[in-house]
Amino acid sequence: MNVRIVVSGIVQGVGFRPFIYRVAVKNGLKGFVRNRGDAVVEIVVEGGEENIKKFIKTVRENHPPLAKIYNLTVESYDGKEKFTEFKIYESFEEKTFSGSVIPPDISICDKCLEELRNPKDPRHDYFFITCTDCGPRYTVIERLPYDRPNTTMKDFPMCSFCEKEYRDPLNRRFHAQTIACPTCGPKVFLVTSGGEVLRVKDPIREAGRLVEEGFIVAVKGNGGFHIATSTLNSEPIRRLRRVKHRRQKPFAIMAKSLEAVKTFAKVGVEEAKLLASYIRPIVLLEKSENYYLSEEISPGLHNVGVMLPYTGLHYMLFDWVEEPAFVMTSANPPNEPIIVDNGEALRRLSSTVDYFLLHNRRIAQRCDDSVVRFNDGFQLIIRRSRGYAPSPIRLKFKTKRVVLGVGAGENVTGCILVEDKAFITQYIGDVEKLETLNYLKETINHLSNLTNTRFEVIAHDLHPKFATTNLALTLANQLGCEVTAIQHHHAHLASLMGEYGFEDMVGIVCDGFGYGLDGKAWGGEILWWNGENFERLGHLQEQPMVGGDKATIYPLRMVAGILHNLNGFEDWLYSKANFFPYGEEEVNVILKQLKSGRTPYTTSCGRVLDAVSALLGVCYERTYEGEPAIKLESKAIWGKDCLNLKPKIENNTVNTTYLLTEIFENLDRYPIEDLAFSAQKYLAEGLAYLAIEKAESLGVKTIGFSGGVAYNKQITKTIKTVVEKNGFRFVCHNQIPPGDGGISFGQTVATALTLKTFI
Ligand SMILES: [Zn+2]
Ligand SMILES: [Zn+2]
Ligand SMILES: [Zn+2]
Repeated sequence: MNVRIVVSGIVQGVGFRPFIYRVAVKNGLKGFVRNRGDAVVEIVVEGGEENIKKFIKTVRENHPPLAKIYNLTVESYDGKEKFTEFKIYESFEEKTFSGSVIPPDISICDKCLEELRNPKDPRHDYFFITCTDCGPRYTVIERLPYDRPNTTMKDFPMCSFCEKEYRDPLNRRFHAQTIACPTCGPKVFLVTSGGEVLRVKDPIREAGRLVEEGFIVAVKGNGGFHIATSTLNSEPIRRLRRVKHRRQKPFAIMAKSLEAVKTFAKVGVEEAKLLASYIRPIVLLEKSENYYLSEEISPGLHNVGVMLPYTGLHYMLFDWVEEPAFVMTSANPPNEPIIVDNGEALRRLSSTVDYFLLHNRRIAQRCDDSVVRFNDGFQLIIRRSRGYAPSPIRLKFKTKRVVLGVGAGENVTGCILVEDKAFITQYIGDVEKLETLNYLKETINHLSNLTNTRFEVIAHDLHPKFATTNLALTLANQLGCEVTAIQHHHAHLASLMGEYGFEDMVGIVCDGFGYGLDGKAWGGEILWWNGENFERLGHLQEQPMVGGDKATIYPLRMVAGILHNLNGFEDWLYSKANFFPYGEEEVNVILKQLKSGRTPYTTSCGRVLDAVSALLGVCYERTYEGEPAIKLESKAIWGKDCLNLKPKIENNTVNTTYLLTEIFENLDRYPIEDLAFSAQKYLAEGLAYLAIEKAESLGVKTIGFSGGVAYNKQITKTIKTVVEKNGFRFVCHNQIPPGDGGISFGQTVATALTLKTFI
């Protein structure tokens, strides 16, 4: 019998056709397989019914790890061709079409790792060993179609051995565009900070040994440079902090194996699975009781970001060392993109590092490591980058027009929405600096070329002064397309609704800052949106931000704003004068400004958490994004409820002065951990009760939680419990970052729905 099978999903450029070929041949089938221009793979097979059944079962269940099947249909086929064998048709395939899918970078697979370790294998000890199922993709592709001449592997002509494998449909490296071996592939070398190449036999393992000995080594990877140090010896980590001007911000580490991770951190089932998956992101893990790595890695935090090796080079780094893990932080100057070029690395990092481990393959697209955390088994993506980008998020609806979202100000990503696929760029960063803004521009351009899309609408944040707003307006002008502004927290809510396909939701959206519809600073919001009406239903109490942005850096300013009318508070504030850069004089000015009443106001949840953190003496200065609130969470982990406060809600507002007053008055009575716990519980319950009241009156069944505060385990858990207890459905993010990395996606979803472009 003859049948035609049509498979849609992520099936092109992922080794799908060679896989089909092998399975067909194995089952004695004749026919052909080809990529079709509309992103599907078409298979025609001729053979016995049982064999065809077996064939389909294998295709469904054992397809290559990179492939994702959305849909598979089988129909009878009555073509007139006579098949004599099974063939891979190559004619017009790999042609680009709107919304084509480029695979992300994939960590080294088990088979390649086995070969890397096998002394008899031709690729034994070859650091860039890859196959059709693994290796870099997005970071090496310069243009479509995805063929070797269009990647940075074009600089390395295949040797006859690799070529033979590349041409053999039965070989597992058939059409593996990154195929290479010690003879023909990229080479690795160890260089001093002065640029002198060291004559060593085994540069990678030598570099590992140098790291263990206490040196700082820059390591070039697939998508950028890492800086590596020991994790047991604090001296090089301290030195790195000094030269990087990175006082407290945690460093990610790479552990040699999952067993090694378990010696210093708690690893749940889900966490272990993701750590070892082909994505290999950094996973935030709770430190175990006998945590023995340097405290300098993540000072003041209960958790540490860990990843496993994801290339042959990484595995080899650990071969000669006893250390369970290395610090592996991305090498980027403050607020600038990760460094990718050898020359630039030598120029900009030689005063920071002692040695460089370099290779001679260019990086087409930079891509930082992804970061994920789990809250009670729920996956929350903090940074969606390597291993995820640019594979699309699939929506439950289709847009007729192609929409671009450019993000907000911090943790920016771009997003292209085409039909039912949202392509989110890798992590770009904070776009204050021109270098980073240019990186965003280039990446959007590159992704639009790879997906073969032309924008019809461009969405940006409502903030008139964001660099991304300006970028959107300029682009729209150049391309002659429409622009639309989406309020920041509206975009957060839309990102949650888009992720789940809900068309009506009350959302609790909490973060640090977003420009409100009234021009004020928002950040602790109860919102409602149903694709037509967007409404602000309630919020946290407005609080003064003395000195504007300064109150973000020095959270005691927030405390002053909230409590300045309280008896005995001024004396307390003066007792903390040495935590202000200008001491008592600064306190004088702050109090005077507060009395005049001329300060900006904010409803931000992040700022209230910061204030609690400073009031409790946990953190007086923010040296990295979210630091006071993150450290507060790390305290609350060990606490229990001591204040037992009932949220005060009046006029659709959760009273936060009451919360801070209660903490202030009980400062000496309870441990900091318990007060931190009570504070987070109060905020979570207050927001949840208000959201429930509003959802009830609107008849909305679902309450969601988005924004950067949604990373907080206790707050999320408390909101979830209250919401579900009251009979509502609760949702939080799973695939889209709750923080501002998800804003670009939310902007496109909000735009597409608002413009009624869905079909
Ligand atoms: Zn492989
Ligand atoms: Zn070769
Ligand atoms: Zn936000």
